[in-house]
Amino acid sequence: MKLIDKFNREINYLRLSVSEHCNYRCFYCRDGDHITKCKREDILSYEEIEKIIQIFAQLGVSKVRLTGGEPLLRRGIVKIAKLISRIDGINDVPLSTNAHLLAKFAKKLHQNGVNRVNISIDSLIPKRFNEITRGGDLSEVIKGIDMAIQIGMKPIKINVVVMRDVNDDEIESMLDFAIAKNIDVRFIETMPIGSVGIKALEQHISEKDILIKINKHLDNKLIPINARQTDGPAHNFKIQGTNSTVGIIAAVSQHFCQTCNRVRLTAKGDLILCLGQENAISLKDALRSGLTDDEIKHMILDAINKKPEKHEFNTVVDNISNRQMVEIGG
Ligand code: SAM
Repeated sequence: MKLIDKFNREINYLRLSVSEHCNYRCFYCRDGDHITKCKREDILSYEEIEKIIQIFAQLGVSKVRLTGGEPLLRRGIVKIAKLISRIDGINDVPLSTNAHLLAKFAKKLHQNGVNRVNISIDSLIPKRFNEITRGGDLSEVIKGIDMAIQIGMKPIKINVVVMRDVNDDEIESMLDFAIAKNIDVRFIETMPIGSVGIKALEQHISEKDILIKINKHLDNKLIPINARQTDGPAHNFKIQGTNSTVGIIAAVSQHFCQTCNRVRLTAKGDLILCLGQENAISLKDALRSGLTDDEIKHMILDAINKKPEKHEFNTVVDNISNRQMVEIGG
């Protein structure tokens, strides 16, 4: 069975937020005074996560990314990884993390099904990194990256949100860093999610401008890579003569929604159909009200049928001004 939406897009990828808590407070991701109010009973239990992923797997989802908040703060994260990676049909369980705790968890996660990792790192300058993350420690993140390399996670990708006059002078050093460590790098345009995301649009840099800098630095050594079915919206390039790739997610300057292959499930069990639209349904309520697997399957099919054609970042930013990225999982 496959999940195909009204616009003929196959949905084979679920981003699963396992915690709304984060140990970093990136200024473009959450309000400075944002407090995570989340009781244990508010979030999906291990059993509920397993049940929902089993249903998604029966519907053709094969990739489940663990995200957050910061997923490594979720108690039992290794157990969650193990449960998910053993589900029939799930063959890809990547992790998105700020890597502050990755040195501690990488090995156990890798042994329990997490095959690869995306690490968010917006600066290689300690003071700047600390300012962007409002308290983050770059040296811990580098330790996490090195541990992931050492134990053989592959691919390892660093994700950089590029912002004018904040870190746009580091595109070159990020490329050098990735090439030296034989890992991949991906540059992300700022997205107007939540009031801080909308504010961060003032520092927005387009894919076109990012590419100009990359090509200049690498002497035009980029070879386009054809996207695989579960790859989604990044434009990826092999960097000739290296073991690294570079990608760009042009969320705003290029409408990336035609290739959208994903939905999101929050830690509280809300199924979000589009990052840039408010609509969501509660799978937690469905489970807790005793619906059968078949009834939940039909709820999901019905929801996918209502997946919007595209985000409205460029037109109706107010639409999503109440969301905080930290609650959605990126
Ligand atoms: N804590 C994990 C991490 O740091 O990767 C997972 C959650 S975080 C919300 C996921 C991704 O969303 C990060 O790469 C972060 O940089 C990105 N993100 C958050 N707010 C964003 C925004 N307004 N525009 C673009 N990317 C954003």
